[in-house]
Amino acid sequence: EAHSAAIKSANRALNAYVLETPERALEMAKASDARIAKGEAGALEGIPLGIKDLFCTKDVRTTACSHILDRFTPTYESTVTSNLWDAGAVMLGKLNNDEFAMGSSNETSFYGEVINPWRREGSDAPLVPGGSSGGSSAAVAARLCLGATATDTGGSIRQPAAFTGTVGMKPTYGRCSRWGIVAFASSLDQAGPIARTVRDSAILLGAMAGHDPKDATSADLPVPDFEAAVGQGVKGLTIGIPKEYRVEGMAPEIEALWQQGIAWLTEAGATVKDISLPHTKYALPSYYIVAPAEASSNLARYDGVRYGLREPGTDVISMYENTRESGFGAEVKRRVLIGTYVLSAGYYDAYYLKAQKVRTLIKRDFDQAFEGVDAILTPTTPAPAFAAGEKSGDPLEMYLNDIFTVTVNMAGLPGISVPAGLSSEGTPLGLQVIGRAFDEETLFRVGQVIE
Ligand code: GLN
Repeated sequence: EAHSAAIKSANRALNAYVLETPERALEMAKASDARIAKGEAGALEGIPLGIKDLFCTKDVRTTACSHILDRFTPTYESTVTSNLWDAGAVMLGKLNNDEFAMGSSNETSFYGEVINPWRREGSDAPLVPGGSSGGSSAAVAARLCLGATATDTGGSIRQPAAFTGTVGMKPTYGRCSRWGIVAFASSLDQAGPIARTVRDSAILLGAMAGHDPKDATSADLPVPDFEAAVGQGVKGLTIGIPKEYRVEGMAPEIEALWQQGIAWLTEAGATVKDISLPHTKYALPSYYIVAPAEASSNLARYDGVRYGLREPGTDVISMYENTRESGFGAEVKRRVLIGTYVLSAGYYDAYYLKAQKVRTLIKRDFDQAFEGVDAILTPTTPAPAFAAGEKSGDPLEMYLNDIFTVTVNMAGLPGISVPAGLSSEGTPLGLQVIGRAFDEETLFRVGQVIE
């Protein structure tokens, strides 16, 4: 009730929730009470959560924040949310995101932008909450839920967490089932939590993760006790600092934050050493080929026949055209066009195949690095949260936000963003810890020392 009331009063200003489900929340909470009374409480019994609107929720509208899906109500529940309800969690509502998770500022949503609850010191100008999981990060930061689900294709869990002073964990590709999550780029998409603390995110991930035969890429591995890793410290761990992340023009305060992180880890007993990830500079251009290529294929299903919106036409082709013309926003159209182009017969080898080869080289860089280190420390973003509207007119400028996060998705590795300090403007900054595949436990250990 307290959370539903908080949403009622604050959501008009923040626009974090696109759908509030207070009656369902009360019903779920009552069922939790009954289980607690019977001594059958699950790991998340009664915990109120917000759900990114990319997760299909049975009988509850799910839109990916696209006009093309705004009349879509799934008849099934995603595996991740279903796991959360099995653990006793309560749904407060569906959270805003960039349309089909394409964006870094939550400004491409059909339902309007999300506002970051943080402000620059001495200024009222609204800031972006990051994206694409901007509803999730803003809701957690503004205390409009205890935790939220999110998804990360190129940084969409970690970058919004960094912009809002929250913890964002993108697990290893395959750790969480993608079944029932609206697909953006299937070989990169992963679900994970945004939460207030490293411990909360460990508990949430424990409930979300697990093998699912309905997703062929879901890993058939046991889910470790992530919470037990929190607090184990970093004594004996070796942490790598990749020199290629010291990008030209990096703000001095980001460099200072990174040095501070290194100092904290050294003081706590870790060994820090310089490493090289030589193909880092190709990550962003190759990501912005692979991700749109997969998106153009995944979004082919939105044709006015199978889901959601249908705009009439004089024949079936014009119906498709009218539906997609009015149903997709500008950024989604841009991705579909880029993706279709790089997959076309004449350009496939030059762009798509080349990007896939670069992807392999990026993964090899990490494999080599992890022969000598247990985790890698970098800043999460090259700068703190920017003003609403500041970058929305320039896609390239927007894509540069993802410079430190996309490599992790290209290699399928886990990455966590942890709040580590404030910018000179008084807004949050995050540090990112990258780990070996299926070694989220080390990230929780390192992350807890930094937070
Ligand atoms: N900002 C990146 C993009 O627009 C990543 C988005 C995401 O991780 N879903 O593609």
